[in-house]
Formats: sequence, structure tokens, C-alpha cells
Amino acid sequence: MKEKIKAVALFSGGLDSTLAAKIMEQHGIDVIAVHFITPFCGKVNLEDCKEPQDTIAKEAGLKIVHELILKEYLEIVKHPKFGYGKNMNPCIDCKILFLKRVWQLGQELGAHFIITGEVLDQRPMSQRMEAIKLIEEEAGVSGLVVRPLCGKFLPPTIPEEKGWIEREWLLNIRGRSRKRQLELAQKLGIKNFTQPAGGCLLTDPTFSIRLRELMEHEGLDLIYVNLLKLGRHFRLADNVRLVVGRNQVENSHLRQFKDDFVFIEPLNTKGPDALLSKEASGEDLGLALKIVARYCDDSTNVIFKIRFSKDKSQEITVEEPLPPQEVERYRIG
Ligand code: SF4
Repeated sequence: MKEKIKAVALFSGGLDSTLAAKIMEQHGIDVIAVHFITPFCGKVNLEDCKEPQDTIAKEAGLKIVHELILKEYLEIVKHPKFGYGKNMNPCIDCKILFLKRVWQLGQELGAHFIITGEVLDQRPMSQRMEAIKLIEEEAGVSGLVVRPLCGKFLPPTIPEEKGWIEREWLLNIRGRSRKRQLELAQKLGIKNFTQPAGGCLLTDPTFSIRLRELMEHEGLDLIYVNLLKLGRHFRLADNVRLVVGRNQVENSHLRQFKDDFVFIEPLNTKGPDALLSKEASGEDLGLALKIVARYCDDSTNVIFKIRFSKDKSQEITVEEPLPPQEVERYRIG
């Protein structure tokens, strides 16, 4: 019996990666779509980052597995060997790590090669010919990556040389236009996909400002990265941060972090919950309460409950909030 050829596909849920996996699957390759979840996916609970990729893969008839890359990913954001893009996105290092990890998984699953949805010259940093070659070499997967959307422009890969795939299956899409991909999606019945880099907060300018500031003060860790996705942030001292919820959903997310921070909630008016670093001095706490009072429905004479730990809390009344221009002075991003 002829051996079934298997491949692992880097899958973001975007149009290109969905098309690439689908093209190979239609030619009889057993494709497993691999979706990496990093600390910089847009959700506070990383479990929620499985959507919408789950739905997109199912609609396209693809098998999907989700893989978390957390600590290792923070390391490349701290020290990207190949630098950042326009914001805090270390795209080349990120792709190297994804390729390394997808191939580790591929080998465990008995895959013969890797599929990616890359399109030559679509992105300035990581999809130029030299970058594509460099990324493959650094990841230790030279010759094993098939790029169905632009493969006609690239040298033959090991899967072609071994006869696992045919060159005729590969397309010649190049550049930033998405016209051909959209036509192809229609032909293959793919209606649902995410926007390019839509899920990656490292390409977001506001998030990148917050992240840079975090790295200069507290340093990068998973709790803080998750916290950056929420609320208004204020720097009160070198090691003191205040986070103020913007709505009820954020308030309930902030509650998840309350054991790691001083937790502040207004008692006699509607208003935001807030977190303050445990390192805060009495003076920092006073300032924090005046800032939080500014966002309360009734901002004068606000009674706050301050929870320092499970068994230590206190009530403090704040007569006047901080003036708006003063509040802005402490704001991050
Ligand atoms: S946009 Fe984000 S996920 Fe995509 S390659 Fe760049 S850093 Fe990685």
C-alpha cells in the first residue's frame, strides 16, 4: 500500500495559511494545521485564543492542534536576534521559533514536511527571498518547507525531490495584492478567515508602547503581559503601576489578578476596580485612589475598599479626585 504523506502546517487562521493547508489537503496530503498560541494573542485567558482558528479550521475541513509557546516566546521578545519590525514584533525570530517547534511536533506526529502560507514579497521583514532562506536555515528545516502559494518562484524542496508532492500543485503568487488569494478562497469555498497579523498584539502601536514601558520597569513576565491587555495603565513610581478597569468585563478580569496586587474597589458609587503594585507606599496609594476616583460616576467623597491581602483590608474616603490633566501625566500609552 502506498504510504500516506503527512504534513504539519503553520496555521494562523488567516487567508494565506488556510489556503496553503487546503491546497495540499486537496492533493491528498494528510495535513495537520498547527496553531501556536503566544502570550501576545489578543485574549486575557489564553484558552480563549483557540477561537476563531478552531472554527476556521473546521469550516475548511482541516484537522487542527493548538500549541502554547509561552516562556520561550517571551525570551525572543526580550532579545530578538534579528530585531523588531515597526512595533515590538520580532517577526523573523518568531517565524524561526514557530518553524522549529512545528517541526518538533511534526516529527512526533510522523510528518514528512512543513507547509506555510507565506507569499514572496508580501511583508517587508520576513517574506523576502533572503529572509525566507535565513529563517529556514536558523530553524534547522532547510528544504523541508513547502509554500504552496509562491512555491513556483522558489527552488525545489525535499518533498518535491522525493516525489511526495508535485511542482504543478504550487502557485506563483507574489506581492501584497490579495486578489488571487480571494479568488482561490471562493473556488475552494473558504469564507471565514482572520485579518493578516490580526491576532498579534506585538504589531499594535499602543500595546507596543505599554510593552516597552513594562520591559523598562517590571520586566517581562506572563502575568504582566496579560495585564497589559486590560484597562488604563499609570506609572506612579519606578516599581509602582496602577491599572484601572474600563468596563465591567475588564473589572471582572482584573479580579483574577487580585492576589498579586493591592485590589481597589469603590463602595458608594459606580466606578472601576483597580490594581496597584504591592510595592506601593502610602503616598502612592493616596495618589492611586485620587486617580481611580476620577473615573467614578460620582467622583467626590468616594469610599474605597482596599484589599492588601486575603486577611487585610481597609476603607478610605477620597474627597476630591485628581484633576484630569494631572491624571494624564501618570498615564502609560
Ligand atoms: S506578526 Fe506577530 S505572530 Fe506574526 S510573525 Fe510577526 S511577531 Fe510573529
